[in-house]
Amino acid sequence: MFSERVERLTSSLIRELLALTQQPEVISFAGGLPAAEAMPALNLAELPAAMRQYGPTEGEPELRERIAEHVSGLGVRCQPEQVLITSGSQQGLDLAAKLFIDKGTPVALEAPSYLAAIQGFRLFGARFLELPLTAQGIDPEELRRLIARDRPALLYLIPTFQNPSGVCYSEAVRAEVAQIVEESEVPLLEDDPYRELVYQPADRVPLCARLEHGHWMMMGTFSKTGIPGLRIGYVVASESLFPYLVRLKQCTDLHSNRIGQWWNARFLGSPEYPAHLERLRAFYRERRDAMAEGLERHFRDLAEWNVPGGGLFFWVRLKHNCDAHALLAKALERKVAFMPGEAFYANPTPWSGCMRLNFSHAGAERIERGLAILAEVIREQLAARSRVTSVEM
Ligand code: PMP
Repeated sequence: MFSERVERLTSSLIRELLALTQQPEVISFAGGLPAAEAMPALNLAELPAAMRQYGPTEGEPELRERIAEHVSGLGVRCQPEQVLITSGSQQGLDLAAKLFIDKGTPVALEAPSYLAAIQGFRLFGARFLELPLTAQGIDPEELRRLIARDRPALLYLIPTFQNPSGVCYSEAVRAEVAQIVEESEVPLLEDDPYRELVYQPADRVPLCARLEHGHWMMMGTFSKTGIPGLRIGYVVASESLFPYLVRLKQCTDLHSNRIGQWWNARFLGSPEYPAHLERLRAFYRERRDAMAEGLERHFRDLAEWNVPGGGLFFWVRLKHNCDAHALLAKALERKVAFMPGEAFYANPTPWSGCMRLNFSHAGAERIERGLAILAEVIREQLAARSRVTSVEM
C-alpha cells in the first residue's frame, strides 16, 4: 500500500517522550527544549497585511540579507542569493537527504549524532558510516580513510556544541577536516544550531568558512535563540547546490511561513538582539553550572563527563554496565526523564553506556532534585544486579 521507503520509517523516542515530559510534574532532561521564560516576546501588532499573501520560495529578502550578513561575518563566502529560508533546520536536513540519498547511499556522520537527522536520512535509505567523536571532534585521519574506502555521497557534521555530545571541534581538527573536504570534494552538510549558545571561549569558526570551492551547505536556526514554534531556519549553500535545494523546497511546502520570517528579520535587526543573546547565555550558563555541580555531587562514582562550553547538553558516560531502557522506565515512574545514548547512534548499538542530559529546560533546583533521583535509580539497578549475580554464584 505504501512506498518502499515507509518500511524504513522509524519513530523518534524523543518525540514520543515529549508529551510525557511536558507534564509540569516531570523533571525533563530528555528534550532539547529552550526555556520558555528565556524566549523573546512575540509581538505581531505591526505585521504588514502583505505578509498574508504567498511569498517567494527562497524566503523574505530582508531576512535573507540579514542572514547573509551574519554568516559572512563568520567568514563564510555568502551572498543573500545563497540563503534559503527553511521551516526549521529540520527541513534543511530533509532537503539535503532528498538531494543526495537513495537506497544504499553511503552517508558519513559522527557517532553519536543528531537523532532526527539519522531518522530523516534513514528514511531515504542511507547506509551510515560512523566517525567516532572524541573531545576534540572526529579523527581527521579516520575521515581520510573512510573517504578513500567508501566515498560517501554526503558528510554530515555538527562541529559546534554537538548534539548529543556537547563536543566542540578544536581549531586544529576544524582546519584538517576542512582541508580533507576541500581536497576530496565530498559534499559537506554543516549543522550549526548551537553557535550562539556559548558560555565560555571556544573555537567556533565554521568548517564552511575554510572552503574555497566544493559543495557545501551550512544550516542555522532561530529555534534556540528565538521562538522555536515559528519554525524558521536556513540553509546557506554553495552555488553548485542552491538551485536544487530551492526546487526541492518548492515540492515540499512552496515557502516557509512569512509571519515568522517577518518577525525574525525584525528581531535580528533590533538593537535588543545582542542584549537578548547576552541574557540568554547568562541564563543557560547558570543552568549548565547547576548541572555540573549536581553531577559532581551525585554522579562522581557513577559516571564521567565533560562540562560543555556551549549548547544544551551534557553527555554522561556511565562507569557500570546499566540497562538504559530499564533505567528510563524507572526514572519516568519517579517523574524524571532523560535520553538513553543508544538512540543517537546511526548503526544499532546494544549499549552505549551514555545518557544525554539537557540542562536548558529545568531550573537549578529541579536540576538538583532530578539528578539526585536519577543517581538513586542507577544505584538501585546496580545493587539489584549485584544481588542477582551473588545469588547465581
Ligand atoms: N540539528 C540539530 C543538531 C538540532 O539539535 C536540532 C534541534 N534539536 C535541529 C537540527 C532542528 O532544529 P529546528 O528544526 O528547530 O531548527
